[in-house]
Amino acid sequence: MNIGIIGAGQLGRMLALAGYPLGLKFRFLDRSADTPGGQIAPLVAGEFEDRARLRELDTTVDVITFDWENISVAALDVIPANRIRPPAPALATSQDRLLEKQLFRELRIPTPPFTAVDSRADLQHAVQRIGLPGVLKSRRFGYDGKGQAVVRSAADADAAWAQLGSQPLLYESFVNFTAEVSIIGARSTRGEIALYPLSANTHSGGILRHTIAPFTRPALARLAQRYLRAILRRFEYAGILTVEFFVVGGRLLANEMAPRVHNSGHWTIEGAHTSQFENHLRAILGWPLGSTAPRGHAAMINFIGALPERERWLREPGLHFHDYGKAARPNRKVGHCTLVEPSASQRDLRLRRLLNRLGSQPGTTG
Ligand code: AMP
Repeated sequence: MNIGIIGAGQLGRMLALAGYPLGLKFRFLDRSADTPGGQIAPLVAGEFEDRARLRELDTTVDVITFDWENISVAALDVIPANRIRPPAPALATSQDRLLEKQLFRELRIPTPPFTAVDSRADLQHAVQRIGLPGVLKSRRFGYDGKGQAVVRSAADADAAWAQLGSQPLLYESFVNFTAEVSIIGARSTRGEIALYPLSANTHSGGILRHTIAPFTRPALARLAQRYLRAILRRFEYAGILTVEFFVVGGRLLANEMAPRVHNSGHWTIEGAHTSQFENHLRAILGWPLGSTAPRGHAAMINFIGALPERERWLREPGLHFHDYGKAARPNRKVGHCTLVEPSASQRDLRLRRLLNRLGSQPGTTG
C-alpha cells in the first residue's frame, strides 16, 4: 500500500518510520525535499494548495493523509472525499478556533467562555462580557502560541488589537489551570476505537516543552475519553485525533483539537505498545488497531531551537533520541527524547535532571 502525506514535517517523517515495518510505502507533498519527510521518502514538490500537485500525489497512492492542519481544504476537492483520512470536515473545523469551540459546545464538551471578535467594538464587548484577563486569538493559522495575545488590562486590549486586529479573532477567558492534558485516540474506517491514556503537557511561550504519560487521574481520563469519542463519532473519523484540555479543579475545559498525530503523543513510540503513528496508519487503512496500553511511565522532552549535545544524551541509559533532520532555528522543534521508567517517581526524578541539563544549555530550550 502507498500512503500520500500532505506535509513532510517531523510528524510525517515519524508516520513513515512507523509504516515501514508494516510494508507501507510513502510519498510526501511539500515545498522542498530537504524536509524531515523528504529526507526519507519520495516527495512531490509543490505548494499545499497546488491542485495539479495534489492530483499528482493522489494518482500515485492508495490513501491520503496529512501531517499538519494548515493546509488548504478548498484545494483538497480535487481528491475524492473518501480517499482523504482523517475526513476533510474534521480538518476544516480544526482550522478555525471558532468552529472548533462551537463544535465542543454542541457536543457538551466544556470550554472556557469565548466569543467571536471581528471589530475593535466587538473586542470591547467581549472584554466586558467575558472579563479580564482573557486571550485574544486568531481564528485561523495559529499554532505553537502564534497569533495570540493575553489581555490583562484596557491598554493590553489596544495592543492586542494592533497586533492581531486584521483578521477574524476569538476572545476567551484566561484559564488558571492546574495542568494541561491531552487525549489521543484512533478510530478506524471500520469504526474501531482505541484511546491512549491521558498525558500531562508543560508549555512555555505557547510551545510544548515536555509531556508525561500516563497522567493517572481516572475521573479526568473518563471525561476526556467521553469527549474524544463524541468527536470521533461526529465525523465518522478515521485516524488519530487529539484534544487538548485545561484542568480546572475536577473539570476539563477543551482548548483545541488536532486531526492528526500530535507532539503530546510522541511518548507512545517507546512508551506504549503501539505508537500513535502506527495506529494512525492502521486506522486510515481499516486495519485492526494496536494496543494503546503504556509500557511504563514515560516522559518526552522536546528539543527546541537546537539539538543538545548528542553523545552526552546518548550515554543516558534507556534514553530514546529523535533527530528530525531540521536546521537549528529559535523556537523550532528539531527533535525530542523519551524515557520510559518502571515507576512515576523514577520517571519524574530523571525528567527533572534532564530538564535541568537542557536548561543549562543555551539555545536548546528556545
Ligand atoms: P493554543 O495555541 O491555543 O494551544 O495555546 C498555546 C498555549 O497557550 C496553551 O497550551 C496554553 O498554555 C496557553 N493558553 C492558550 N489559551 C489559554 C487560555 N485561555 N488560558 C490560559 N492559557 C492559555
